[in-house]
Amino acid sequence: MTAETDHQSLHQALLDLPHEQRGPSVVQVKKLSKLIDGDLPLQSFLEQLLPSMCELFSAKAAVAWLRAQGAPGAIFGVRYHMDNLLNTSAEQKKHERLVQLAWGQKQAMLAEPTPAGRRPSSENPGNNPTSHQLLFGPVLHLGEPFALIELVLHESPATLTQAQRKLYLRGVQLVADRVYGGLKKRMSRPAATLAQATQQLEQIVAQSESLQQQIRFNIEASLQQFHGWSFGSLEENQQFAKSVHQILDSYGLRVQCPECQNPAILRCLGAGNAKHGVFVFDHYLESGRTFHGGPTTVPLIRVVPKPARRPSLSNTA
Ligand SMILES: [Zn+2]
Repeated sequence: MTAETDHQSLHQALLDLPHEQRGPSVVQVKKLSKLIDGDLPLQSFLEQLLPSMCELFSAKAAVAWLRAQGAPGAIFGVRYHMDNLLNTSAEQKKHERLVQLAWGQKQAMLAEPTPAGRRPSSENPGNNPTSHQLLFGPVLHLGEPFALIELVLHESPATLTQAQRKLYLRGVQLVADRVYGGLKKRMSRPAATLAQATQQLEQIVAQSESLQQQIRFNIEASLQQFHGWSFGSLEENQQFAKSVHQILDSYGLRVQCPECQNPAILRCLGAGNAKHGVFVFDHYLESGRTFHGGPTTVPLIRVVPKPARRPSLSNTA
């Protein structure tokens, strides 16, 4: 994306916001970029950034929350026009907790004023003690919160519609992503570590495993409805068993043999005394290829993960 279309898309996103009067001008959007790309030191940069963001969002006040150096977990705020907004220490505490919540969210968040006695919800995350909508945009570095932009929107009698919320969330996220560029060259950042990547990869594995388990349970529940069924011929029973195996195999699954509990493939084999064949569990045991089971109707199917591949198991057709 060129700088020009970049300006345009940000400008459009900001124009789309529900402004009381007209939205920000191109000049105002370019001023933000110039400030971010300029060479002001951190403190002066933030002192100009906050009013500039208030202009863009028609906001009343703003805070840039930053991680405190040398105090793990602590953050501090550079404030603009925040006086008189939080009048009691109880309100300040509530607001502090809301900021902590937004800091941990890693995505844009909008908190409506919380009416007395109302519990937090997805519409009203945390407890907003002010009479203003508060808009939060996280600035992430390597997937972790690095800074947080808070904007105090104008007092509005009505709560925002879903569509308006989305526009605000998108707008503040675009600006926060832009601000990241300005902060990263002005602040020291933690370097990427393999330990952090490993931790995130482990989370992916845990999430995938839990999804796989859900898939397994769903398939098992669906297949159990065929318990006791039998079709009109050996060929049809075989076709059914084959289809079951194909579904399971595509998810790396097998049926569990009810006799020895080993993973197996469900098959239907012709047998002398059973007109339409018998359902068997086909598996390789220590002693070699073995068939267990033998009911003439579909057995109750339990689903287990496929065993690790062994050369001797690679061709069981
Ligand atoms: Zn068995």
